[in-house]
Amino acid sequence: MSLLVIGSVAFDAIDTPFGSTGKIVGGAASYISLATTLLHKQVGLVAVVGEDFDFDFVDTLKQRGTDTTGLQVKAGEKSFFWHGKYHMDMNSRDTLVTELNVLGNFDPIIPKTWQQPDYVMLGNLSPQVQMTTLDRLTRKPKLVVLDTMNFWMDIALDDLRAVLKKVDVLTINDEEARQLSGEYSLVKAARVIRAMGPNTLIIKKGEHGALLFGGNDEIFFCPALPLEDVFDPTGAGDTFAGGFVGYLASVGRTDFEAMKMAIVYGSAMASFCVEQFGTTKLASITREELNGRLAQFKALMSV
Ligand code: AMP
Repeated sequence: MSLLVIGSVAFDAIDTPFGSTGKIVGGAASYISLATTLLHKQVGLVAVVGEDFDFDFVDTLKQRGTDTTGLQVKAGEKSFFWHGKYHMDMNSRDTLVTELNVLGNFDPIIPKTWQQPDYVMLGNLSPQVQMTTLDRLTRKPKLVVLDTMNFWMDIALDDLRAVLKKVDVLTINDEEARQLSGEYSLVKAARVIRAMGPNTLIIKKGEHGALLFGGNDEIFFCPALPLEDVFDPTGAGDTFAGGFVGYLASVGRTDFEAMKMAIVYGSAMASFCVEQFGTTKLASITREELNGRLAQFKALMSV
């Protein structure tokens, strides 16, 4: 099962109560690719970076099994840059800087070999680019998953609503679900958002786990693993989405039962991401370590 990933590949700067980073590699598609390739090898990336990017990281992606043919490098231009600052609880953050740079006029060119993917993960990007990506596919995928954030709800709501009509699964956090639906109750919010297009909605609640709404008005909840050390939640949402779609692609399923297991995989994967700054931890974990975390989830969830 082929899995196409699109999203930002970027530089981030992160401030947390435990410290700050300088410019480090980040971006939604970076986290997604690292997470998916731990579970599944047929993964293709479509993204854009400037000539200032860290190309050792691109080598890491390749070594992990991502086909980077669709990664464009723009000569004389700068990579996307995002600077975020976490509050004391680490569950909420402020965006201090968003410099779109190469993302400002990104034309998502999809290599010929990737125009008929089985699964598509539209990572955080402008909804217009997410739509163009879908328009350029020459066959309807089995499953399209979309992740987005409040930034795009604030500046491109109409474009977001248009692309939502074409996706199967939407992943957003609780605050964004309330903003998009205008409802405080997450159950009501899920009903409103599912009527916008995505048959399945995942609402991420940070250290409080994730809710899955789908099927015939079914709800499933997966907790987050209580961790001793949380250094940096950046990318946890993308890692979660990557684990979710990577698991589904690896088993070739799209039904609600499989999605329940997929959010456990997503949550287990995200639990690694937050333990170190940036992509470092995620890039180093093995399948055995993931299996250990999955067993911890099983214990945490059973009575
Ligand atoms: P997450 O913590 O899962 O919400 O994702 C954080 C990642 O999203 C960071 O690595 C950023 O580079 C990336 N990001 C932040 N804002 C945007 C945006 N407006 N468009 C695309 N990617 C973004």
